[in-house]
Amino acid sequence: MTLTVLNPATEEPIIELEQAGVEEADAAVARADKALPEWRRVAPADRARLLRRLGTLVEEHAEELAQIESRNVGKPISGARGEVGMVAQVFHFYAGAVDKHYGETIPVAGGVAATFREPLGVVGLIVPWNFPLNIASWKIGPALACGNTIVLKPAELTPLSALRLGELALDAGIPEGVLNVVVGKGSIVGQRLIEHPDVAKIGFTGSTEVGQRVMAGAAATIKRVTLELGGKSANVIFADADLEKAAAAAPYSVFDNAGQDCCARSRILVQKSAYSRFLDHLIEATKGVKVGDPSDEATEMGPLISAQHRETVATFVDEAQIVFRGDAPDDVGFWFPCTLVEATNADRVAREEVFGPVAAVIPFEDEADAIAIANDTPYGLSGSIWTRDGARALRVARALETGVLSVNSNSSVRVSTPFGGFKQSGFGRELGMHALAGYSEIKSVYISTDD
Ligand code: NDP
Repeated sequence: MTLTVLNPATEEPIIELEQAGVEEADAAVARADKALPEWRRVAPADRARLLRRLGTLVEEHAEELAQIESRNVGKPISGARGEVGMVAQVFHFYAGAVDKHYGETIPVAGGVAATFREPLGVVGLIVPWNFPLNIASWKIGPALACGNTIVLKPAELTPLSALRLGELALDAGIPEGVLNVVVGKGSIVGQRLIEHPDVAKIGFTGSTEVGQRVMAGAAATIKRVTLELGGKSANVIFADADLEKAAAAAPYSVFDNAGQDCCARSRILVQKSAYSRFLDHLIEATKGVKVGDPSDEATEMGPLISAQHRETVATFVDEAQIVFRGDAPDDVGFWFPCTLVEATNADRVAREEVFGPVAAVIPFEDEADAIAIANDTPYGLSGSIWTRDGARALRVARALETGVLSVNSNSSVRVSTPFGGFKQSGFGRELGMHALAGYSEIKSVYISTDD
C-alpha cells in the first residue's frame, strides 16, 4: 500500500511513500532490540557527543527541515524555523543531561544501597501531525540519553521530517538500529507497537481517545506509558490586567499553528467589569493575524491539516455566537478563518478540543468564579493568568488544575522546564530533566559491608 503525502496549503501531492504494516513494525522492533545491548553500553560522554552531533546536524540542516515541515503541515515558514531551532536545542539539552542523570547512595544497616538509572529497552514513540519534529524530539532526546533504542511512528499525514531526522541520526554516528522510523497507520503500526512484547514503553502524543486505547492496550504487557493528550486551556484575564497587552497576545495563543496545538488557550475567560473593553481590543488584535501562503515570511497562520479536519472544526461554530470572523483564502487548501465566539462554559465549543482557529470568549464574575470555570473541564494541560496583582497570580496559579501555566504571558513550553498534563490531558512529563524519569527505571542495589 502506498501513501500520498499532501501539502495542505495547495492540496498538491508532495510524495508517495510505501506504507508499513505489522511485518515492518516487527522488523523495526527487532532492529531496535538488536541494537540495544551495544547502545546502552556506550559511555555517557560518548552518547552525549553523539546527541550533540545530532543537534548540530539539525542546526546545519535547519532551513531544509523547516521547509519540509512548512510544506507538509502548512505551517508558516517563520514558525517552522523556530520549531526546528527548538529541536536542535532539545538534542543539545539532553546531550548535556546524559552524564548528570545521577543515582544515589543510601546508608542502610549492614552496608549501603546504591541506585542506578537503567534504560527501559526498546521504546515505541507515536507522534501526531501538529508539531511533527518538535514532539518527536521531546521523546527521542531523553530516550536516547537514557540508553534506550527507538521505533518512531510519525503521523501518516506528516512523516517527512521524521524520515529526514532518521537519516541525520545516522550521519551523526548514532548506530544503525538505534532510531528506526516506521511510516504506517496508527491503527496498524501504532497498535502493533502497543501490543508488541519486546516494546517496553509507549511515549504517545495525540488525542485523548487514542490515548485511552494506548493505556488499555499497554496493560497486557504492563508497558510503561506517558501520554500527552488534548487540552481546553483557559486564558484568564482579570480586570486589573494590562488589557491591551493581554488582548494583543491572546490571538497568538490560540490561532498559532491554526489552533492545532494542545496548549491552545481556546477558552478566553474575561472578568465582566472589563469584558467589553477587552473584547474590542481582542477583535482588533485578531484582525491583525496574517493568514495566507505559509512560504511567505510575513504569514502568521496557515491552513488546517486536512479537508476532513476542516469539516470537524466547522461543526464547532454556531453562527449565532460569532463575534468576529477573519479572512482566509477560499480557493485551494484547507483554510479556516480566525473565529471568535461568545459562549458559556457549557457549550460544546468550550468543552471539546476544537484543534482549529476558534476561540470561545467567556465572562466571569470574580476570582472564585474564574477558578471554577477554568477547572470545569476534563482537561488540564496549560493556561494563562493576566493580572497586576502578584498575590492573586500565585493564588490562581496554585488553584488551577493544569500542568503548565504562564502569568502575564502565554508562553509555557521551554526545553528546560517540565511539560505535561493533569486530568485527561495525560500524565508523565516531557522536556527538562523531568523527562528522563519517563525513559529510565530505578534499580536499587544493596552492597553488604560485612566482613
Ligand atoms: P490521533 O490521536 O488519532 O493521532 C495521533 C497519533 O496516534 C498518530 O500518529 C496516529 O497515527 C496514531 N494513532 C491513531 N490511532 C491509533 C491506534 N489505534 N493505535 C496507535 N496509534 C494510533 O489524532 P488525530 O490525528 O486523529 O486528531 C484528532 C484529534 O486529536 C484532533 O482534532 C485533536 O483534538 C487531537 N490531537 C491532539 C494532539 C495533541 O497534541 N495533544 C495532536 C493531534 C491530535 P495515524 O494518524 O498515522 O493513523
